[in-house]
Amino acid sequence: MKVIVTDPIAKEAVELMEKEGLKVDVKTDLDEEELMRIIDKYDAIIVRSRTKITREIIDRAKNLKVIGRAGVGVDNIDVDYATEKGILVVNAPGGNTVSAAEHTIGLLLSLIRKIPQADRSVKEGKWERKKFMGVELRGKTIGIIGLGRVGYEVAKRVRAFEMNVLAYDPYISEERAKSVGAKLVSLEELLRNSDFISIHVPKTKETVNMISYDEFRIMKDGVYIINTARGGIVNENALYEALKSGKVAGAALDVFEKEPPDSDNPLLKLDNVIATPHIGASTREAQMMVGIAIAKEIINFFKGLPVRNAVNLPSITSEEYRHLMPYIELAEKMGKLACARLNGVFNRVKITFGGEIARSNTELITRALLKGLFEQILSDVNIVSAMHIAKERGITIEQSRMEYIKHYRSLVEVSVGNGKEIRIVGTSFGDEYRIIKIDKYKVDFIPKGHYIISLHEDKPGVIGRVGTLFGKHNINIAGMIVGRHGKRGGIQLMLLLVDDPPTEDVLKKMIKLDGIIDATYVYL
Ligand code: NAD
Repeated sequence: MKVIVTDPIAKEAVELMEKEGLKVDVKTDLDEEELMRIIDKYDAIIVRSRTKITREIIDRAKNLKVIGRAGVGVDNIDVDYATEKGILVVNAPGGNTVSAAEHTIGLLLSLIRKIPQADRSVKEGKWERKKFMGVELRGKTIGIIGLGRVGYEVAKRVRAFEMNVLAYDPYISEERAKSVGAKLVSLEELLRNSDFISIHVPKTKETVNMISYDEFRIMKDGVYIINTARGGIVNENALYEALKSGKVAGAALDVFEKEPPDSDNPLLKLDNVIATPHIGASTREAQMMVGIAIAKEIINFFKGLPVRNAVNLPSITSEEYRHLMPYIELAEKMGKLACARLNGVFNRVKITFGGEIARSNTELITRALLKGLFEQILSDVNIVSAMHIAKERGITIEQSRMEYIKHYRSLVEVSVGNGKEIRIVGTSFGDEYRIIKIDKYKVDFIPKGHYIISLHEDKPGVIGRVGTLFGKHNINIAGMIVGRHGKRGGIQLMLLLVDDPPTEDVLKKMIKLDGIIDATYVYL
């Protein structure tokens, strides 16, 4: 497997991948065109925030299976398009959190004590003690927008400066905020009451221009702004005007709408702006941690092991994965079986988890079912793209749970239809899994191999005729289940495990046999 690394990562991370047998090319000075020309040779790409993984690059990346982001923000990656193309996106959150938080504190102190400006002045041979009058942090209020990993660590650190902490984050609990001494408030309340505002939200459709003209208007006069999150969350034109008018006393920016910013970016001309070149995560510790973390993810991915931080898949631990694995395989086989019986035509999928499995994170099982359903009718479907494909095709997916069931520890029941419906029930014992019911018929088999599923009339001679037909065509029947439902007679289900797949012709002949209603071949 070939991996290309297009932004600098720790050399230990590269060595780790090479030790595991991956062929790694480190090319950190490629421009977009050069990357486009060579990307089709690679199975994986590792980037930081410089390389943009656009739709065009993804279209050229014919062999790409995984995109690794050594860091957190994935706004430089077209994740939706990667998902559509079945490419896994993984990131390495956490590794650079403390570095980003420490840089934020560094900027905060630099800003209020004008350290970079004072440094410049002394080096120019001046001694301007009056010019560099600062303010204290003690007793002031800082408003943290986004109390996630970095925001939380910033909150923890500013408490040591005896600051009051307000936080705005609609997705976290009051307890979480309280645990770091922050008061959870509305955005408006935070803007109105903070002396310092520090941004720590991801860049999303919702957060672009989150701080713009209206927001500056309601802030306290003389507020300070720090942005170490992403450029564009604070509107640069609005910030410039607020700085010029004195509404904002100073701003510290590690990130810009365009990186690197144009040399004529007016913000860079202002004396009350201090700027760093997106170095929040640039510490030896952070680079080592995110590099190794992403290398391990890529190695695990190619070994077929679960990845911990998939951006476009639910994240689960190795232990959870081991527990889910038999159900994931089972669901995929159920999907294949249902698709074969319905000739690939269905618009409704229902999956019910019963018993112990109902208490797990079952999303991968649902995705595996969809993968199995689509695999025979679509090209390039995998567990990443399956959900997207289902939505695109207007397929309704219903998932339900029943924690208490009889007789079994866990059951997965799948019902797929389009008017005509098939219902399949399966279970797992340890690492093994079995299908135990198809429609109303009780069966019990490990779905592995070539199967023929057929409905027939329960009358003498039918099974014999099937055996003779297969014998004549030299197809060995390795196993047979004939489930009788209800009394003698009626329509029953027959399941044949054969050593070799039957030809179309044999299947047609089987369907024409007296007493046979239908027959479907499927490889499970
Ligand atoms: P995170 O996902 O742990 O935290 C983000 C927080 O923002 C979450 O708690 C989330 O609930 C909250 N949030 C999301 N949308 C929101 C909204 N509309 N309003 C309010 N809150 C919202 O991310 P993190 O690891 O803490 O990173 C925070 C930011 O810092 C990201 O933008 C990341 O890219 C950036 N970052 C920059 C550097 C750097 O080098 N400058 C380094 C690390 C992280």
